[in-house]
Amino acid sequence: MVAYKSKMVERIRLPSRAQRERNLERAGYNAFNLDSEEVFVDLLTDSGTGAMSDSQWAALIRGDEAYAGSRSFEELESAVRDVMGFSHVVPTHQGRGAENVLYGTLLSAGDVVINNTHFDTTRAHIANQDADPVDCPVDGAHDPEMDAPFKGNFSLEGARAVVDDVGAENVPMIISTITNNSTAGQPVSVENTRRVREFADEIDATFVIDACRFAENAYFVTEREDEFADATVAEVAREQLGYADALVMSGKKDGLVNAGGFVATDDETLFERCKQRTILYEGFPTYGGMAGRDVAAMAVGLREAVEEAYVADRVDQIQALAEMLEEVGVPVYTPPGGHAVYLDAGAMFPHLSPNEFPGQVLVCELYREGGVRGVELGSFAFPETDRPELVRLAVPRRTYHKEHFEHVVETAATVLEKRETVSGLEITSEPEVPELRHFTAELEPISS
Ligand SMILES: *Cc1c(COP(=O)(O)O)cnc(C)c1O
Repeated sequence: MVAYKSKMVERIRLPSRAQRERNLERAGYNAFNLDSEEVFVDLLTDSGTGAMSDSQWAALIRGDEAYAGSRSFEELESAVRDVMGFSHVVPTHQGRGAENVLYGTLLSAGDVVINNTHFDTTRAHIANQDADPVDCPVDGAHDPEMDAPFKGNFSLEGARAVVDDVGAENVPMIISTITNNSTAGQPVSVENTRRVREFADEIDATFVIDACRFAENAYFVTEREDEFADATVAEVAREQLGYADALVMSGKKDGLVNAGGFVATDDETLFERCKQRTILYEGFPTYGGMAGRDVAAMAVGLREAVEEAYVADRVDQIQALAEMLEEVGVPVYTPPGGHAVYLDAGAMFPHLSPNEFPGQVLVCELYREGGVRGVELGSFAFPETDRPELVRLAVPRRTYHKEHFEHVVETAATVLEKRETVSGLEITSEPEVPELRHFTAELEPISS
């Protein structure tokens, strides 16, 4: 059920078809090169793109910009204590700042880190410490058709095999990412989190939760895990996060702000060490790279994120979009996750081979037909892996309405109708770092 009305609006425009064709060509068939004004419904990411509430805007104006001992920081500490259950917090400019502070503090060269699935920046920060990130998702996590309640779970069997192989003494840290962003935003159960806690104790490792979408995850737990059928989202969030030794958080997700992040922990020694690294890379530990006003808005956002009405509306929007797409025959990853619907471009364009980038073709066709922007997460973004050819339509928080989603569905249905006529793409220029090529590479249609 809808939980908001609009108080401020932003005009959007659908460029003409001819203009969209020109924009695509100019952008080198890469949606990252489109200007936002050229996009009608922007589903590129849910990171920092949501709308703040009137309470958050009010907090923003009251933000305390003191270099040290800011009142806004006290508000954040109190929100993190109440909502997440941790007594110490180190603010950072965004989630990857938190990763640098925590992982730079905990890791040394040669360490192995196990995660259900490392998000890109997590993987990069661990590699940056000369440590080795290993993924242990559960079976079926990458299967777009398997129906299971917690496809985001951490595989204990997988983790045990890694520890047997490399030795427990080389695994100082394990991470559970909730929801599992790189596995289609699938949730992680509280039961799985408990078992990861026990496993961490067994091998004497620090247990970190990447809590970016902790509220969406908690909502899924109330819907799908019997033990929590009568619990509130706020209760589940505290219970689940409480198993960790430390959290990394991107405020741009369930902090409901446009920029910000933090590390949270109850461990005094770890807190002191993180503060030192924060001074080096982020800022004084009571603002840590954020403006005081943004800290204040994030403190309010964290409390709003666990309100039932907010999070139910949020996750229901994504489920409704997935259902509408399925109804018109567009193949989607099931069940849908908490922040995005993933389209299966491989199933949509069976005549295109992976090296013709079916996912990127779908991204371009969605823009050409309806000015909709999504992002490819298949062979173009992940060269040399055999992932499914997915296109992510990420939904910004509290931003779009049913009419926008109806437009997205109509657009996808139009692409589906002409699926046999579309041709593949080839890369015409790409950057030196293959892991980052989908952000800047340029392409063109393969002429037949
Ligand atoms: C977004 C994200 C991060 C990084 O946060 P930024 O605010 O983008 O720097 C880390 N982990 C996960 C799971 C994320 O989704």
